[in-house]
Amino acid sequence: MISQNHRLDQQLIEREDQYMATAARINYYDLVIDHAHGALLTDVDGNQYIDLLASASAINVGHTHPHVVKAIQEQAAKLIHYTPAYFHHQPEQQLAERLAKSAPGTDNEVAFGNSGSDANDAIIKFARAYTDRQYIVAYTDAYHGSTYGSMSLSGVSLNMVRKMGPLLPGIVHVPYPDCYRTLPHETEHELALRYFEAFKAPFDSYLPAEETACVIIEPIQGDGGIRKAPAEYVQLVYDFCHQHGILFAVDEVNQGMGRTGKMWSIQNFPGIRPDLMSVGKSLASGLPLSAVIGRREVMESLAAPAHVFTTAANPVCCAAALATIDVLEDEQLVTRSSNYGRYAKEQFLALQQRHPKIGQVRMYGLNGGIELVKDQQSKQPDPEFASDVIYAAFERGVVMITLKGNILRFQPPLVITKSQLDTALAVLDEALTAAEQRLV
Ligand code: PLP
Repeated sequence: MISQNHRLDQQLIEREDQYMATAARINYYDLVIDHAHGALLTDVDGNQYIDLLASASAINVGHTHPHVVKAIQEQAAKLIHYTPAYFHHQPEQQLAERLAKSAPGTDNEVAFGNSGSDANDAIIKFARAYTDRQYIVAYTDAYHGSTYGSMSLSGVSLNMVRKMGPLLPGIVHVPYPDCYRTLPHETEHELALRYFEAFKAPFDSYLPAEETACVIIEPIQGDGGIRKAPAEYVQLVYDFCHQHGILFAVDEVNQGMGRTGKMWSIQNFPGIRPDLMSVGKSLASGLPLSAVIGRREVMESLAAPAHVFTTAANPVCCAAALATIDVLEDEQLVTRSSNYGRYAKEQFLALQQRHPKIGQVRMYGLNGGIELVKDQQSKQPDPEFASDVIYAAFERGVVMITLKGNILRFQPPLVITKSQLDTALAVLDEALTAAEQRLV
């Protein structure tokens, strides 16, 4: 199946180019989405695609889920907005309770925002206020957002910070464990210890532990390439934080809401209870809503108006979030993520047998990073090949993008059907072959 006609897509994009700032979109290919249901997208030219991106993991329960749509419509007819800065409304109250109870721990409180970025800014604010310390430790390759605070936490590409410095002071980056490009014959235990030494290195030289407020980590990195840190490493960092009165904060914006086969990705690491957690994206099925969830004592360290936004906790967004959580529970999508993820991993490993440029298949829930390399010996990234693959997939009706240029990002809506998944995998097989033969 090749989706041929992109006439209207292209016309609309040419026109948009006159008005839309280039800083706000990463261009992959010409696609103007008209409507979407479940795991299927339809563009303005009528082409249909299987969505393997779920709007960057923001549509875990599937596009226009009827329960979510109904909740939005009903709430919009009742109260579109009243700022939570002064008064209360029930959707916000219900959602705060549900989130506080859903996160690890028994004494959580919630503060709402509009984006994953501002939720991570909130982590900086609450951590600094509670500890009365200034330094924050974050990770290389992590993406935490686009506001000054969250951008400063991020350790990714130059274009994300170029021409915008100086960034927020007091943030130190340490390397995230790379379980692909390891030392020869290194075991996971040895790797965990090596990266823990790298984590401690700044504390041994210029970073005073007693002035460090928090460590922020994605225990499974999203934009960093869908990479899971070894459990032993996460435990060592967690214990170090406890020993030194440093808060342990987790960014669940990309990997939360069932994506990894658990409601929260940190639940893949038994026994760890974050002090602070940021949530966004799929929380309200892509409507602008985020939250920071944290231990009561930490959350009580700031008083209003320290973290107030006029449009936060919008009642329509909160209603969408309550409905989204209902769907995750009622349709058992978290378990489905785990089961279908296992199946998808087997299929990608089978593809790896036929396509040697697949260097590594990582899959944690319905959530994968398929790393494409020049060859399996050198493990050198092959972004050109990856870009041919995603374009060939797009031409054949599958929407997917890359991470860090060479990693296929596999994050379909968790409601994707088995037959859609099989079709998408068959298309990817064809797309890999086309790219190998440069038939794109
Ligand atoms: N944190 C993580 C892990 C993310 O992946 C993202 C977005 O991709 C963000 C934060 C920022 O969220 P938003 O784009 O909603 O501001």
